[in-house]
Amino acid sequence: MRIKEVTHYIISHKLDESFYFSQWHYDRRTICLVKVTTDEGLYGWGEGYGPAGIIKAGIDFFAPLLIGKDPLQQENIWRLMHLRSLDFARRGVMLSALSALDIALWDLKGKILKQPVSVLLGGRKREKVKAYATGLYFRESENLAQELAEEALFYKNAGFEAVKMKVGLNIRADIENVKAVREILGPDIELMVDANHAYSLREAIQLANAIEPYNISWFEEPISPEEYDNYRELRLRTKIPIAGGECEYLRFGFQNLFINRCVDIAQPDVCATGGITEFKKIMSSAQTFGVDVVPHSWGTGIALSAALHLISNWDTIPGRLYEPEPLIEFDRTENPLRDDLIKPRFSLENGRLDVPTTPGLGIDVDMNLLSKYVSK
Ligand code: CA
Repeated sequence: MRIKEVTHYIISHKLDESFYFSQWHYDRRTICLVKVTTDEGLYGWGEGYGPAGIIKAGIDFFAPLLIGKDPLQQENIWRLMHLRSLDFARRGVMLSALSALDIALWDLKGKILKQPVSVLLGGRKREKVKAYATGLYFRESENLAQELAEEALFYKNAGFEAVKMKVGLNIRADIENVKAVREILGPDIELMVDANHAYSLREAIQLANAIEPYNISWFEEPISPEEYDNYRELRLRTKIPIAGGECEYLRFGFQNLFINRCVDIAQPDVCATGGITEFKKIMSSAQTFGVDVVPHSWGTGIALSAALHLISNWDTIPGRLYEPEPLIEFDRTENPLRDDLIKPRFSLENGRLDVPTTPGLGIDVDMNLLSKYVSK
């Protein structure tokens, strides 16, 4: 069986209600998907994270390397793509194109071998993964703290046992918002905060110290991803665990985070960091440093499914009779590209998501709906 065709789709949806975080406003979601098809008509789906038009160009660059290859040899294809782009793209969005293709090859491999990706990775260590709600973005409001508290309560009532909120507006507003959300959630729901690298080290220490009483499970991207030394210092100066890594690429990028003792929780995005092939290697590397892995996930059900299969395969650290339960990010902002386009739809049950059991990623794309969302 040989790869015959690589097809990309840019899909887009204008949001009913725009929202923002510490860096910019969102009023549209745009995503690049890729479909890899064999000469026998089997296909796999992949997705890249980042600017869709550039990912599409990256896929055009890599596609000729795939045509005519055996899709089962996905690590060989990965290496070929990596070596052909290494001189220009050791980091960044070109690797999202590589990731999208790698994910599609794993989906295809699973369909050819009639096994879910998690089994191909070495085994399913759990059938369900505890999901945390990503939401609580900023919006134009007279009383933002109150509105965020109401949104947080909605997630709690939907069964989430963990919720992540944005900080990075300014320290005073952040403290007020965190206080309001923690008060409405009560003590039993995990609460995380994410600054999207809005702060300096000094500001991050100030915020961390101020919100420590609210039992924060992690402080995500407190400072610029380039500031490895400052990450290490911040970790020593707060009791709140530090998370980061959605801007890191490949095992080599994560090596910087690990060697410098920057994070307690690493957050690679399978749609950017090098696909499923590389994510598995990053998981192994994280384990050697005693660092937890909670995937960053901001896309369709393709991205979510890939992350679920990987976390199903994750060996928790440390191992023990009653093991700690790993987490997965479940974006709850408005996104029909995630909710409607991919079948089956992922839904929360008792705060957890099922790891798909059917071959490959265990999802498919509704081709009728796809044409509705393909950007013209
Ligand atoms: Ca984040």
